[in-house]
Amino acid sequence: MSTVFEARPWDRIWGDTTGFHDAGEAPSVLAPFLARCRTHPDRMALAYFDRAWTHAELDAESDALAAAFADAGLGPGDAIGLYLQNIPEFLVATIAAWKIGAAIVPINPMYRERELGHIVEDSQLAALVALDSLLPTVDAVRERSAIRLVIATSGLRALGRTDDLPAPLADVEPLAVEGAELYDDVIARFAGHPPPAVDPSPSDTAYIAYTSGTTGAPKGAVLTHGNVLFSAQTFRSMRQLDEDDVIFAMAPLFHVTGLICSVALTLLVGAPLVLGYRFDVPTILDLIDRYKVTFTVGATTVFLSFLDSPRFGEVDISSLTKIICGGAPIPPSVVERYESATGVYLHNGYGMTETTSPTFGTPLGHRSPVSSAGSLALGIPVPDTEAMLLGDDDQPVGVGETGELVVRGPHVMAGYWNNPEETARQLTDGWLRTGDMATMDAEGWFYLVDRKKDQINASGFKVWPQEVEEVLYEHPSVREAGVVGVPDEYRGETVKAFVSLRPGRTATAEELMAHCREHLAAFKVPRVIEFLDDLPKTVTGKITRMSLRELDRDG
Ligand code: AMP
Repeated sequence: MSTVFEARPWDRIWGDTTGFHDAGEAPSVLAPFLARCRTHPDRMALAYFDRAWTHAELDAESDALAAAFADAGLGPGDAIGLYLQNIPEFLVATIAAWKIGAAIVPINPMYRERELGHIVEDSQLAALVALDSLLPTVDAVRERSAIRLVIATSGLRALGRTDDLPAPLADVEPLAVEGAELYDDVIARFAGHPPPAVDPSPSDTAYIAYTSGTTGAPKGAVLTHGNVLFSAQTFRSMRQLDEDDVIFAMAPLFHVTGLICSVALTLLVGAPLVLGYRFDVPTILDLIDRYKVTFTVGATTVFLSFLDSPRFGEVDISSLTKIICGGAPIPPSVVERYESATGVYLHNGYGMTETTSPTFGTPLGHRSPVSSAGSLALGIPVPDTEAMLLGDDDQPVGVGETGELVVRGPHVMAGYWNNPEETARQLTDGWLRTGDMATMDAEGWFYLVDRKKDQINASGFKVWPQEVEEVLYEHPSVREAGVVGVPDEYRGETVKAFVSLRPGRTATAEELMAHCREHLAAFKVPRVIEFLDDLPKTVTGKITRMSLRELDRDG
């Protein structure tokens, strides 16, 4: 394969990218963090509701946990699971794992026995740090696992704390469970006895990221320290962050976006990280105001829910001026709504688990153009990234044509854990197949057409759901829209839309269909529209077409 875009027109748009990925000689994000612990021990590193940690405190707590891991015989090559919400222990355990040269395996705390069991077995997990409320699930899978150590933490069970902010976090009694060590006991026992330091090298595994897996069982994308460092640098440079910024972890830390744009970024840059347990809009708005958060990354639905929250008008979030929005298509109308309400422009960023984080972004000082089909540009490839579009015959297509997006660069995963067949299917000579269909314009801006497998085939007429969704979003009553193909006796498949309406607005199915007919060819207009209070979303706020199709089957 050879790259078609030799001219790299996007260099003109990024401008001077000297230093974009500069981290001196650092082999991982751990090195700048440890250096800062020595030079600025009293600087705030982390905040969780009303509690804060300095760099020195975070260093000492992670040393103690690293000592406990080492005491259990863990070290380089081992995988440590984190079955946690967005709590301080997540950051501490990540640092501790990397200090002993182990890799982390974040696990969605909503996963139940079957899902947890798959990850525990597939990654050959050696230890697990878990919320104590999840220990019964851990117990159910432990016998058939290689787990040697389980550490349980309460996370101060901050659930449902919206009403008592800004009251102090109450201490809660940890649930004692047989076979698990209590986090606080472990930290007290190993305090002051750090294990010998291991300096991870760029090719060592930092993180095995299980992708939500739209088909089949989740696969573990192996992300190296080099991948993580490069991706954190990308976020830093895209919004010119430094230690005077304040980062809010909007995405769940167990998802790659959350880990890179929160944990890895704070370690690299030294800007404090603010955590809020889980996605709860009033709490988040309060924390942004309280800590004067300046930067966050989230899906469009996050910012839509800000606008719809009654708390939105009551708090001051004017500090939050640096936002990267991504993870799912961004309707241009949402960017306009957010900008007219706050004055802040949502910068698009595109990436996937297998690329650690963004491969495309909107450079500062630029606004993403909108294609004639109404899609907001994903951006242009971030520096050091190559991109091309492959047509049906796997040959590169040119400007204006649609092809599968393939990318290559220092953020692309090493491969899928223990899965050479799947790795070979997705990766060729470092080029990763994204499964996304895209186009590029003459200026070098890329536009997502849709997921390859989401294309609807209505009597041979091809419909990309995203285009229909964008038209629906332009209707003033529409809050959220999701479009899928559903079985149809006559056409094979037909277009169906799921829609939720903005509070206080009304619209009938006929009205929305008429609106679509005004802007779209007849074969793209939804034949069926179903109204829901809320559309089903993934943990990162993406509306998933898979669950919409399931809803249709069950409905
Ligand atoms: P995940 O591996 O869960 O991060 O999902 C990656 C997928 O999310 C990509 O392959 C895209 O389909 C979608 N995606 C990510 N960022 C964007 C974006 N800015 N605009 C549109 N789709 C996106």
